[in-house]
Amino acid sequence: MTAQTEPNFPLSVVIAGGSVAALEAALTLRELAGDRITIKLVAPGEDFVYRPAVVGEPFGYARAERHSLPEIAAEIGVELHGESLAWIDAGSQIAHTDASALPYDALLVAIGAQPHIRYEHAVTIDDRILDEQLHGLIQDVEQGYVQRMAFVVPGGMAWPLPIYELALMTATRALEMNVEVSITIVTPEESPLATFGSAVSHAVSALLAGAAVDVITSAYCEIPTPGRIRISPGHLALDVQRVVSLPELRGPAVRGLPGAPGGFIPVGPDGAVRGVQRVYAAGDATDFPIKHGGIAAQQADAAGTTIAALAGVDVIAGPFRPVVRGILMTGAKPLYLQGYTTGKHGFGSEISEHPLWATAGKIAAVRLGPYLETRNLRTATSS
Ligand SMILES: Cc1cc2nc3c(=O)[nH]c(=O)nc-3n(C[C@H](O)[C@H](O)[C@H](O)COP(=O)(O)OP(=O)(O)OC[C@H]3O[C@@H](n4cnc5c(N)ncnc54)[C@H](O)[C@@H]3O)c2cc1C
Repeated sequence: MTAQTEPNFPLSVVIAGGSVAALEAALTLRELAGDRITIKLVAPGEDFVYRPAVVGEPFGYARAERHSLPEIAAEIGVELHGESLAWIDAGSQIAHTDASALPYDALLVAIGAQPHIRYEHAVTIDDRILDEQLHGLIQDVEQGYVQRMAFVVPGGMAWPLPIYELALMTATRALEMNVEVSITIVTPEESPLATFGSAVSHAVSALLAGAAVDVITSAYCEIPTPGRIRISPGHLALDVQRVVSLPELRGPAVRGLPGAPGGFIPVGPDGAVRGVQRVYAAGDATDFPIKHGGIAAQQADAAGTTIAALAGVDVIAGPFRPVVRGILMTGAKPLYLQGYTTGKHGFGSEISEHPLWATAGKIAAVRLGPYLETRNLRTATSS
């Protein structure tokens, strides 16, 4: 490994990504390090889309918020490069994009996970087109054409919340329309939403039972033909008319960085990528086993604080202590869920009809939450 140079001042920070982890990190760095740093944001898209809200679209809820990345970049004071990170020369401290080579003193990789279709014979949810994918299915449920359906979670890493939200909202809609539909969730989790801890799991299990949604836990699926679900371990099979699946998530496998199983980026609790210097990572791209916006934001806070310390700011780069927070859309009152977590299991878990933390929005992010809330208020008052 090449010896690292002393950091320049202002410290030149490159952040790859244009979503939760990247924006939370940029806000953290601006707040903590001010003009001790410059930030280049490398992100290919035009917009930051508030992904959790997409789940409501097929049920006629408001369209998910979209925020212009060039506007956000101007507001936060970062230089936006509408490019994609291609590979990293960590020895020379250069991030290569599809269009340029960007030298850095610190690089934060926050480019998310890559969704893959696990089952040929299922609708795999794609949040870019979820309304288009599920609108017709929800109409078929409303009109009584679909009486048996399943929501499945593939093995490996997946976002925990949306499959429960889709199942509960479908059950609520069927009840409102006075039609009968049998809904089953099949999941490898030991209990529903186990990452949030046992209090949340028990309450969500009761909620699902009340909505007549069956749950088969500790289960892995194969779907050999349309509508046929084989479940293992055991010899259980389900026959349904429609199957909706979460995608399987894989890591971005960035050339020039070490890889953990599945192509995820291995990080320590301070956000530093293991085995390379001055490279940090946060969010769904990392090997932390829970893929969740609130967790992505906490990782970004930890990595941002570590980089601020490198810029000479007198902050203690505290390790990332994950608390998983989520708002479960149920079709009726939303529920606030919270649990401390060490990985796949939660402890100290709580569930409430009232907010359990201060920031607004489905993604619990200490800086991005209030920032987006202010932006939304400004847009509402100016229109
Ligand atoms: C339907 C759905 C519902 C969800 N509900 C919730 C919820 O209720 N609460 C919650 O907390 N979380 C929820 N999540 C999970 C949450 O959205 C993700 O965990 C979160 O978005 C991860 O943020 P991220 O910044 O790590 O990655 P992403 O949001 O995946 O963003 C990756 C960013 O990197 C950019 N990018 C990709 N490749 C490159 C490249 N090569 N170079 C530069 N940039 C690149 C992308 O354009 C994007 O801007 C949900 C997810 C989905 C899909």
